[in-house]
Amino acid sequence: MTRSSDTHSNLKSNLISEHSLKFPEIKDLANAKAVFWINNHQLPFADARSIIDFSEKHENDAAERLNRFAPYIALAFPETSATNGIIESELIVAPAMQKKLEEYYDTDLPGRLLIKLDSHLPISGSIKARGGIYEVLKYAETLAIKAGLLTIDDDYAILRTEQFTQFFSDYSLVVGSTGNLGLSIGIMGASLGLKVTVHMSSDARQWKKDLLRSKGVTVEEYEEDYSFAVAQGRAEAEKDPNCHFVDDESSADLFLGYSVAARRLKNQLSDLKIKVDDEHPLFVYLPCGVGGGPGGLSFGLKLAFGDNVHCIFAEPTHAPAVILGLGTGLHEDISAKDIGLDGLTAADGLAVSRPSGLVCKNMEPLLDGVYTVEDKELYQLIKLAADTEKLQLEPSALAGFPGINIVNKNENYLKAKGLIDKMENATHIAWATGGSMVPEPVWQDYYDLGKAT
Ligand SMILES: *Cc1c(COP(=O)(O)O)cnc(C)c1O
Repeated sequence: MTRSSDTHSNLKSNLISEHSLKFPEIKDLANAKAVFWINNHQLPFADARSIIDFSEKHENDAAERLNRFAPYIALAFPETSATNGIIESELIVAPAMQKKLEEYYDTDLPGRLLIKLDSHLPISGSIKARGGIYEVLKYAETLAIKAGLLTIDDDYAILRTEQFTQFFSDYSLVVGSTGNLGLSIGIMGASLGLKVTVHMSSDARQWKKDLLRSKGVTVEEYEEDYSFAVAQGRAEAEKDPNCHFVDDESSADLFLGYSVAARRLKNQLSDLKIKVDDEHPLFVYLPCGVGGGPGGLSFGLKLAFGDNVHCIFAEPTHAPAVILGLGTGLHEDISAKDIGLDGLTAADGLAVSRPSGLVCKNMEPLLDGVYTVEDKELYQLIKLAADTEKLQLEPSALAGFPGINIVNKNENYLKAKGLIDKMENATHIAWATGGSMVPEPVWQDYYDLGKAT
């Protein structure tokens, strides 16, 4: 062994032993084992909301901005005309999948399983059609208002005119991405007339790069990981005052764009006549990369349902980020690489080793827990979701499905939350975060891997 790798492995074992008393899961995490960590820093939401950076007013402001843009979106993306330019996904009840999961995990799974189909969100086919698109719209609106071209009382359909595309062509957007964020920023930015550059990490799939280039977006590719791609983007954007950097590691706008989903989910649940209250707990399982998507959603969900909603993040065993940041209390100062993990996973949307500091800070008093899941299980779940519900999902989107089993079998969790006799009444939502834009042959390979493993 060389001296430097010696030092490295000493640092790693020091880090693990230093934290293992308060965060025993760190040992299993370092061995890439699946764990469930219950957040012992959580406060009742009434107390948590007074110490986080965001309030109901922020979420409301984001919801109103999306409403203002709806006439523009309905025009620019006809696939949203049915919802009048509101980018929203279906919430479906999934009894066939729930039954298959009972067989797969060889256990009873009381309660009711639902699937939130962000995989089928219009425009970019993933959860990034929420936060990513919202941040682009906010940037464009701010520019146009400042230039005296737009007021918030206008019909935003005018953004579709030559005058605006011409105006926006003097401005640019830069983003670092494992793929899906780049797709959302690229497609919406290009539609408005903004110049867009996406810095893609090695995890990014070829079809995502090809699709972006076909829209006139500049794609820079790196052999390195997501954090590196983000750093490259940040450095490029700093050179140009007419350039906005979408900072996936610390963006309040992304976070708030995601949060709006929760108030809409509340309406969807009441349309389905599903109760959420003290006797009817709601569990939401959220695939997590850097944390912005699941973090923003959790904030919105707690605003909508208070302590009756349980927000649980799901990360790959080879790229746990938020669980490490919260479990150790080190937030963005720790990476999966520091405990010897490679950061490699089939779940490209979750291939993030270092968590967002903004998300860790705000989730510390709010989040219920985080679990990790193996790639092999994600592939097998792809097959189950296709066979039962006819869904074509990408690997990241399956990370929420193990949640219903993990929670139901964890007596410690159920006891601590006073839920032991309420699980028959529970609703479990697996947030299916992406997949509908995956090309057929690529998806078929995923499916075949699920059959083979
Ligand atoms: C980005 C992404 C996530 C997670 O969002 P983060 O903000 O990175 O935590 C989950 N699933 C898919 C498909 C994604 O693209």
